[in-house]
Amino acid sequence: MSETTQTRLLIIGPPGAGKGTQAARIAERYGVPAISTGDIFRANIKGQTELGLQVQAIIKAGELVPDSLTNEIVRDRLHQDDAAGGFLLDGYPRNVEQVHALDGMLEGDSLDAVVLLKADTDEVVARLMKRAEIEGREDDTEEVIRHRQDIYAEQTAPLIELFTERGILVSVDGLGAIDEVADRIASALDAQLAK
Ligand code: AMP
Repeated sequence: MSETTQTRLLIIGPPGAGKGTQAARIAERYGVPAISTGDIFRANIKGQTELGLQVQAIIKAGELVPDSLTNEIVRDRLHQDDAAGGFLLDGYPRNVEQVHALDGMLEGDSLDAVVLLKADTDEVVARLMKRAEIEGREDDTEEVIRHRQDIYAEQTAPLIELFTERGILVSVDGLGAIDEVADRIASALDAQLAK
C-alpha cells in the first residue's frame, strides 16, 4: 500500500452524529469504499456467522469488540482489491490501541485526513432514540446509547488530540440538514487534502 494516489480517510464522532450517512457521501465523492466495522459486525450477526455469534452480546451491550478481533477484520478488509486506491474508515480506529494497529497496517502511509463530526450528547441521544424506532438496532436502547457515549468519551475522544497533533484533523459541525453537513465536510476535506 504505497501508491501516492491513495486517499486514506477516517470519519470520527460520537455515536449518532451521522457518521454512516456522511461516510457514504464522502466515499462517493473521493471514489473510495466506506468501511464501517459496525456494519461488518452487524452483517455477520445477521448472517449468524461464527464472528457474528462471537460479537453479538458485546455489541448488544454497547461494549467494544476486543481489539485483536477488530484489528484482524480491518486488516483483511483493507487488503481487498477495492481498497487499493484508498478508503474511508468509519468506526475504526476507536481507541489508541487500534490507532497503533492501523499505523502498522499502513506501513508508514498514514491517514491523509480525519473528519471529526461534532454533535452534542443530548442531540445525538435524541437522534439515536429516533433511529431505534426506524431501524430497530439492538444497541439503540437509551441505557446502551448512554453507555456507548461514555465509551466514546473515554476511549475514542482522546484520538482527536492525537490526530490534531498529526496535523490531519478537520473539524465539522454535524448539526443541520444532511446536504449542508455534506457540503461542509467536502470543503473542509478538499482544503486539507490540497495541503
Ligand atoms: P457503530 O456502527 O460504529 O456504532 O458500531 C456498533 C458497535 O460495533 C459498537 O458499539 C461496538 O460494539 C462495535 N464496534 C464497531 N466498531 C468497533 C471498533 N473499532 N472496535 C470495537 N468495537 C467496535
